[in-house]
Amino acid sequence: MSTPPTLADWHARAAALQPLKQLLIDGRWQDAADGATLPCVNPASGQTWTSVAAGSGADIDRAVRAARAAFEDRRWAGQAPAARKRVLQRWAELVEAHRDELALLETLNVGKPIRDALAIDVPATARCLRWYGEAIDKLYDEIAPTAEQSLALIRREPVGVVGVVVPWNFPLIMSAWKLGPALAAGNSVVLKPAEQSPLSALKLAALALEAGLPPGVLNVVTGYGHSAGRALGLHEDVDAVGFTGSTEVGKLFLQYAGQSNLKRVWLECGGKTPHIILADCPDLDAAATAAAWGIFFNQGEMCTAGSRLLVDRRIKDQVLERIVAVGRTLAPGDPLDPATQIGAIVSKEQWQRVLDYIDIGRAQGATLALGGAATRGATGGFYIEPTVFDGVNNAMRIAQEEIFGPVLSVLAVDGAEQAVRIANDTMYGLAAAVWTRDLATAHRVSRQLRAGLVWVNCFDADDITTPFGGYRQSGNGRDKSLHAFDKYTELKTIWMRIGD
Ligand code: NAD
Repeated sequence: MSTPPTLADWHARAAALQPLKQLLIDGRWQDAADGATLPCVNPASGQTWTSVAAGSGADIDRAVRAARAAFEDRRWAGQAPAARKRVLQRWAELVEAHRDELALLETLNVGKPIRDALAIDVPATARCLRWYGEAIDKLYDEIAPTAEQSLALIRREPVGVVGVVVPWNFPLIMSAWKLGPALAAGNSVVLKPAEQSPLSALKLAALALEAGLPPGVLNVVTGYGHSAGRALGLHEDVDAVGFTGSTEVGKLFLQYAGQSNLKRVWLECGGKTPHIILADCPDLDAAATAAAWGIFFNQGEMCTAGSRLLVDRRIKDQVLERIVAVGRTLAPGDPLDPATQIGAIVSKEQWQRVLDYIDIGRAQGATLALGGAATRGATGGFYIEPTVFDGVNNAMRIAQEEIFGPVLSVLAVDGAEQAVRIANDTMYGLAAAVWTRDLATAHRVSRQLRAGLVWVNCFDADDITTPFGGYRQSGNGRDKSLHAFDKYTELKTIWMRIGD
């Protein structure tokens, strides 16, 4: 049995890596029309280590034309579902076979620990692609219960050309959640990854070609949001956009649709997840550990991060003590070290933003119970200590605004009713959690919480089989599960008169 790579091995592999750096349009690798590039900065060191093509409006237009041509000649949409299934399954196998390279690209781009990229990001991407491949030849259309002289068929058809725009926190997984159902359903796609994390998307697309996806069906235009992203949102020939990112940019996509062709816009946006621990919590150790991991995992760069801990006043001190104890074991380290559990923040801008929020928390009167500072400064990288604020009230900015970093706000509550009221006092509605021993309380509170996902006596439980998405300003539509097909298909009724 070979020994797993060490820190030195990963650094050697990183130095030898030769990533794909061009746009993929119509099956061909090409530079941006104007030759522009954007730098890739390693968050662990602050150093630029490579660059990638920065596509703009002209490139998006070429990519959309290629996607449209591929859709119209039916080279993919016209294949039997079982044939599309085989391509997606081969693709998933190739993703697994290239696990180390994909994980390395992810870690170098976004600063997440290599152990997470290997154990979570790459396997979840493969599983998602395989799952939608397996699903597509098992979905039947419908026949309506009409009178005898009519036959009404209700068919699902691919929507056409889909624009996919994703963020940097889980570049591969967020892409797969949209590419899986969109491609399985027969659409053509133009993918625009975040400017901070373009490299794994290019490799993922190269593997799709190798798996047998016809040229032009999946195009990738790396580039900036205000340029390539905006052009995709405004394009007159894009039928739907699947977006994951901030609520602010999600709103822009709705505007783009209104200003252009009323394309369908599906949004997975931000969150401010309330994590409720009631006085009858069945296991305080488990709840406190879940609360700590719920905010510190992936450096807090999670749309579902449990950033507001609403804990019953009677047990608050015990819970806080335990969370601080877990937090102390999670000092950030070199993301390429297989022992590292918390890595670097994605970019200097995001790092500064999180530090600014820590200042705001202090200025508004919250008390630091853990962390609160940048760390590992000598590396040049963007690291922040796991941070816990006590004495927070829900009107404070750190309780209302999405920080997207390792910063927990602890709020004391008196009972379930008040906890629910505070939990719902937010513009977001992505996820929520409650810990209680009482079944009736669990049912009542989970019905009252206004969120697309509610966890009871656990946190962040997740599977491709369950829908994922938010209420309110956390977005619309659902990723994952069979419900995701709703975003990328149209329903067509074919009404036939077959008798008098
Ligand atoms: P972001 O909104 O800044 O960027 C997301 C994508 O939009 C990127 O590809 C970016 O290039 C593009 N973009 C940016 N400005 C644009 C513009 N003016 N026009 C068109 N496109 C533009 O988000 P981010 O900082 O990359 O990611 C963090 C956000 O993503 C957080 O708010 C987080 O909650 C959210 N997120 C949500 C989910 C979910 O499923 N609900 C999952 C992960 C992340």
